[in-house]
Amino acid sequence: MAHIFFDHISTTPLDPRVLAAMMPYFTERYGNPSSHIHDQGQAAVKAVDAARADVAALVRAKPQEIVFTSGATEANNLAIKGAAEGSGKKGKHLVVSEVEHFSVLNALRPLRNRGYEVTTVRADSDGKVDPSDVRRAIRPDTVLVSVMHANAEIGTVEPIEEIGRIAREREVLFHTDATASAGHIPLDVRAAGADLVTLSAHHFYGPKGTGALVVREGVSLESQIDGGFQEMGFRAGTENVPGIAGMGQAARIASEEMGQWAAHLGRLGNRLRDGIASSIGHLHFTGHPTDRLPGHVSFWVEFAEGESLLLFLNVRGVMAASGSACSSNLKGRDEEDLVASHVLRAIGVPSDICTGSITFSMGKGNTEQEVDHVLSVLPDIVRRLWEMSPTYLDYQKKIPQGG
Ligand code: PMP
Repeated sequence: MAHIFFDHISTTPLDPRVLAAMMPYFTERYGNPSSHIHDQGQAAVKAVDAARADVAALVRAKPQEIVFTSGATEANNLAIKGAAEGSGKKGKHLVVSEVEHFSVLNALRPLRNRGYEVTTVRADSDGKVDPSDVRRAIRPDTVLVSVMHANAEIGTVEPIEEIGRIAREREVLFHTDATASAGHIPLDVRAAGADLVTLSAHHFYGPKGTGALVVREGVSLESQIDGGFQEMGFRAGTENVPGIAGMGQAARIASEEMGQWAAHLGRLGNRLRDGIASSIGHLHFTGHPTDRLPGHVSFWVEFAEGESLLLFLNVRGVMAASGSACSSNLKGRDEEDLVASHVLRAIGVPSDICTGSITFSMGKGNTEQEVDHVLSVLPDIVRRLWEMSPTYLDYQKKIPQGG
């Protein structure tokens, strides 16, 4: 049976070169960077320093601006809570977009409870944030603007350079969550005017459990984990040396190969999109038509429930995501049977259909043959779901016959 992974937006497979770079730090080089007085500790310090330089180079930051974390969720929490708490007397107001990941949106909750106010900026039907809305939302007491670089669910790339310029003009810190984009499309933290940038290794063929927050020089940030003085005092705790070495290697590879990957993924994405458009009716692509992540195709089909589509696809050896991979997890909580994604609601997908979206996200290892396999099974799966859908059968009855 086929084994086709089209869910790279949730995670990517570890590049074997990354695994090779990590291995020594599990075995013979096991030192703690804080014990830099001896050779084992020194080896760990060297590995972490080299990785810091490689991760910095990926986004054109300075090595001393990279703070390693356990991943994007922690980096987003540090950015949002740390910047709010570190801003002193300037104020207690933040601006975020409505399409942010939960690790941004939910990090705001404890701040709200402590008297911070949040203005949420809308996205349009393509999921784009209008920079002039951000400009209007900024107040004299605003301390931070947070707008993601690219949306995992619908692929839209946000106009972060314009938003960054506005934040700079108004002397407000700008955070961008680049989890879905870093290592896939170019990102220059200085050109973007970003003070804080979230990165995640497992989203660009690195290991899980390692991420980073870029903290531009001079930004005042309150640490969220109390303990020792690792990571320039921004993040206490013994460094995950193998993970950090892996993230450095993944960043080095991405810096060199990202352009080739993007060209390949662009071709695969166009092939998949065109094939779907010509073979499936009642179809609605989501996200921006051109300003989007390469190899990312997202859509919903009227009368076809997304989770069912995914199950049928999985039976045919194709792994994809419905809505946001993270929001599907909520189902485990028994709260709602099907969870409507906040991103799909934000872009105006009718709420009864919100659960119906599919995200195909391809990776560097995918092939045209795999795209063609998906195109060969998808129309049949959609037809079967329609045949099981009472609303589709009602709709069919209403179509004038003989026309
Ligand atoms: N930000 C974005 C945009 C994401 O898509 C995700 C999840 N893939 C995260 C943050 C959180 O990443 P993690 O679960 O790896 O911490």
